[in-house]
Amino acid sequence: MTTTAYWRPSSVAQALELLERPGAVALAGGTRLGGERTHEEVEVVDLQALDLAGFRAGAGDELTIGAMTTLQHLADGDGVPDVVREAARREHPSTLRAQGTVGGCLATGHPESELLAALLVHEAVVHLRTRETTEAVPLAQVLADLPLPAASLLTAVTIRTSGPAAVFRTARTPADRAIVAAAARASDGGRLLALTGVAATPVLVEPGAVPDPPGDFRGAGDYRRALAEVLLARAVEAIA
Ligand SMILES: Cc1cc2nc3c(=O)[nH]c(=O)nc-3n(C[C@H](O)[C@H](O)[C@H](O)COP(=O)(O)OP(=O)(O)OC[C@H]3O[C@@H](n4cnc5c(N)ncnc54)[C@H](O)[C@@H]3O)c2cc1C
Repeated sequence: MTTTAYWRPSSVAQALELLERPGAVALAGGTRLGGERTHEEVEVVDLQALDLAGFRAGAGDELTIGAMTTLQHLADGDGVPDVVREAARREHPSTLRAQGTVGGCLATGHPESELLAALLVHEAVVHLRTRETTEAVPLAQVLADLPLPAASLLTAVTIRTSGPAAVFRTARTPADRAIVAAAARASDGGRLLALTGVAATPVLVEPGAVPDPPGDFRGAGDYRRALAEVLLARAVEAIA
């Protein structure tokens, strides 16, 4: 990746205008973007001067998390549900947690992200802006539609914090990234279940309706499906 221009806007409006320039790309913590090896020419729009980090309590049990909140800040956050804090801690080693952001994680949609699975069961709604529109979109839909629309910015994500929740996982070693992880949460409307490692992004699932997972060197599709069913059952039992 070759950077042909560097911009540091001081407002979201300015950032959105800059993101309309040809080749413009948003830079948050840079843990993924900084490692990309392509021959593409880009104009970097650095989001660090925007006021998009931190937490805001809303009505009832709502908590809004700014897109530039780092994964470490989330892992340490007061009022953040335990499974979300723990998933943020598992996302990266501490050096990358101090840099990587919630917005970068949402925009990436990594299939093994336990943080995304935890946010899904906490009914996450993403605040998505373009110059013309401001939308609140369910996280499941944002992930299904990735990549993000051109010249758009994630500014925050709102979750519901109440209700018992649990995450169960299987990895090659305790410190390794999970091959499959299952998250469950009891909410007013019933039960929410999510899986990592079975689709192109973490997904919400219905009981007994695990998608057909693709296999890789860490686990064939059938093995992943079997793991998903066992881990979901454990997560459901834990929140009962
Ligand atoms: C060694 C290593 C391992 C990794 N493993 C994983 C992993 O397992 N799972 C995972 O999810 N990621 C992984 N990543 C990628 C990345 O670290 C995480 O997704 C991270 O949380 C990205 O956050 P960031 O702030 O560093 O994003 P950046 O690298 O700055 O940006 C990542 C992408 O998100 C876009 N973006 C960032 N913020 C916004 C925003 N507010 N609005 C719109 N677009 C935005 C950027 O334009 C870019 O396309 C890994 C990275 C490294 C270096």
